[in-house]
Amino acid sequence: MNFFIKTFGCQMNVNDSEKIRHLLENKGLTLCAGEAAADIIIVNSCAVRSKPQEKIFSYIGQFPPTKKIIVAGCVAQTEKQAIFEKKVKVDYVVGTHQFYRIGEIIDEIGAGAKAGTATAFSRQWQELVPAAHARSSQVSGYISIMEGCDNFCSYCIVPFTRGREKYRPLSAILREAEYLAGRGFREIVLLGQNVNHWHEAKGGRTFPELLRQLARSMPVPWIRFITSYPGYHDRELIRVMAENRNIARHIHFPAQSGSTRVLKKMCRTYSRDQYLRIIRAFRSAMPEMKFSSDFIVGFPGESDHDFQLTLSLIEQVEYESVFSFVYSPRPHTKAAAYAQELAPTEVKQRLYALQELQAGIQLKNNRRRIGEVIEVLITEKHPKKAGEVIGRSESYRVVNFASRTPLGAFTRVKITAAGPYSLRGEEITPDSLQ
Ligand code: SAM
Ligand code: SF4
Repeated sequence: MNFFIKTFGCQMNVNDSEKIRHLLENKGLTLCAGEAAADIIIVNSCAVRSKPQEKIFSYIGQFPPTKKIIVAGCVAQTEKQAIFEKKVKVDYVVGTHQFYRIGEIIDEIGAGAKAGTATAFSRQWQELVPAAHARSSQVSGYISIMEGCDNFCSYCIVPFTRGREKYRPLSAILREAEYLAGRGFREIVLLGQNVNHWHEAKGGRTFPELLRQLARSMPVPWIRFITSYPGYHDRELIRVMAENRNIARHIHFPAQSGSTRVLKKMCRTYSRDQYLRIIRAFRSAMPEMKFSSDFIVGFPGESDHDFQLTLSLIEQVEYESVFSFVYSPRPHTKAAAYAQELAPTEVKQRLYALQELQAGIQLKNNRRRIGEVIEVLITEKHPKKAGEVIGRSESYRVVNFASRTPLGAFTRVKITAAGPYSLRGEEITPDSLQ
């Protein structure tokens, strides 16, 4: 039997899809490159905003009834049985804590079982290390260190889709890191909704200690982690990063808003000033430190003044990159009951203004890099241009250049051109150094 996995959403969903692939291949099923040849299509879904959620159903709607469709992930978790009321044919709904049962579920479907759901939450950590070849990249490997979220930000569905926080044991994290390092992965990315809240029970080790141990013991040139919640910041993290040069000088540090008033309504537990203080502390220890962030625009009650505060925060921090979203009311959340007084056109205008400001900052900072030689990790071949590769800088900026150096190698690139979202350069080969 052949299967295909379509992944929507964040890195955590990508990592879950890697695990699903691992499970099904171990069961003797074959992954196919596209939907056409697949008997089973697994849709690993995202529920964070409503528009992307609806896209999932138009995606499923295109398939003939002969294909078996399993909806997994966050939409599966929140919608459960209600998925069967949509105008699409679905054979099974598998929640975020039940994907490891997908093999037996496929057997049940094959034996003619009725459409059903498996969406119970579990407090247990489900240990599973996807084989190297089942990973989405052979260069950069994801390691999940925690799952779920206890924060209940007033706009966010994640605590309802992923459940309460649970933390992976240190020994299991170290084992997966060793596995990836041993197979030549050049970068590891620690994953979790709030990675910096990882800790052991009863006053055991905390996230900075985990990071220190990984940085000291793993022969991996770049260690990254995503996402860090500003409210859980621990000064020790800065010390650990400053002491270990194999932790990339880039942190995804979502602010969501530049207005303390809005942050309070969002139930975020830090103020604008506290956030900026943390940024300054990082930069005073590591002047080369780069930041990225998420912002929500048009949160209910966001005044023009609040929005100006978001713009001024962006100007002050000069982020390397920013993901910006129009606020989307989500079921189960506190903010779903808040009245929205802003017109959609006004919210869109704010979104464009934010994106324009950020694009200008990125263009200015990227142009400054023209003429510099930077270290780049080659992550993939260019899908359209023969002889070209795509790499990432330490700050996670895309760098395009011609190269015959193998994927997974670090190389030095002289930057020759810059746009807001990517850099172009020439590889400094040993020849060109002479
Ligand atoms: N745990 C991470 C944090 O707190 O920064 C974020 C995880 S969430 C899956 C990714 C991003 O989606 C958030 O940072 C937020 O900007 C955005 N997001 C979440 N809920 C949203 C909503 N209801 N409307 C618009 N954007 C939303
Ligand atoms: Fe959602 Fe807030 Fe948890 Fe992030 S910290 S996943 S935004 S509830």
